[in-house]
Amino acid sequence: MTAWRTLATQVLNGTPLSSSQALDVVHADDDEVLALLDAAFRVRRHHHGRRVRIHVLQNAKSGVCPEDCAFCSQSLKFDSDPEQYGMQQVDQIVEGAKAAWDKGAVTYCIVTATRGPHSSEVDVVCEATRRIKETYPMDVCASLGLLDAEQARKLADAGVDRYNHNLETSCDHFENVVTTHEWSDRVETVKQAKAAGMEACCGGIIGLGEARADWVDLALALREIGVESVPVNFLNPRSGTPLEDVDKVRPQDCLKALAMFRLVHPEADLRMAGGREVVLDQMQPLALYAANSFFTDGYLTTGGQGESKDYRMIQQAGFEPVIVEDGPERQTPATADDTPSGDSEAADRRRQPSAGPAG
Ligand code: SF4
Repeated sequence: MTAWRTLATQVLNGTPLSSSQALDVVHADDDEVLALLDAAFRVRRHHHGRRVRIHVLQNAKSGVCPEDCAFCSQSLKFDSDPEQYGMQQVDQIVEGAKAAWDKGAVTYCIVTATRGPHSSEVDVVCEATRRIKETYPMDVCASLGLLDAEQARKLADAGVDRYNHNLETSCDHFENVVTTHEWSDRVETVKQAKAAGMEACCGGIIGLGEARADWVDLALALREIGVESVPVNFLNPRSGTPLEDVDKVRPQDCLKALAMFRLVHPEADLRMAGGREVVLDQMQPLALYAANSFFTDGYLTTGGQGESKDYRMIQQAGFEPVIVEDGPERQTPATADDTPSGDSEAADRRRQPSAGPAG
């Protein structure tokens, strides 16, 4: 048995986790899960304490993407039935920021379902970001698909703090999931975002039919790029997509993956992202021992469990939300909605696919 705590000590002393050590983590026996989380927590606590960063998503353009990512119901190529609308107006995006602020967000994520943005869409996000920054001291993250250098520069100049573009899975497995663009296209966009001065938010999805070794390959690729934020989604298969019948990954294995991501990315803003309520289910509080952030108020097209339940989970597990003190008074308490909405028909009509922010 690997002495998991020695891995934490190694990482805290500045020696990165090796590929073989990361493979040991994801292949650990179920009996080792709590010991793995203990190791991950030592690293998480060193860099993030017991703090939890809350992110809120805004789906600013929905269900009209020409790409064919096999997990995503926002693709026009599949027989899914997402809500469809074109690019929102600046006012709508700014209103979304107010709602995110009222829910206690420290990061507001503007996402569009697209291969890449039209210049007019970049202009909308830039103007919305400038207005948001005038009022709300939140980070703004944009996720608009593939970017060129000029688009990246405009977003950075407007004040966008982070750019999200997930690699989704390992380079080797990517061709089994997406055919309309290459893994290297995604890497290039992340590098463009960083070169323009934005932080890189870049992760993937657990449960695309990949092997556990693909989780390790993804984590190591992200480390090589130097991403600052790592969202880890858990596939909640969506009807009408090519992956609608895949089995969900067991929660114990998701926790092993999160522990591995934390040990590979000791300082990163590691997020348990889409699908957590369904795939991790009752194990979600344990994920906080590795991850230091999550989305509240649902995802691009699926509902969440309600922010009240999210905040209770943080409190009951002995963690604390990061609260931005400056800025306007919040109009509604962060615990306003006490009704779980993940299974509700209304929420599912409102939002369909879970894992995989656009791009
Ligand atoms: S994941 Fe993004 S790029 Fe892929 S189909 Fe969905 S919206 Fe389009």
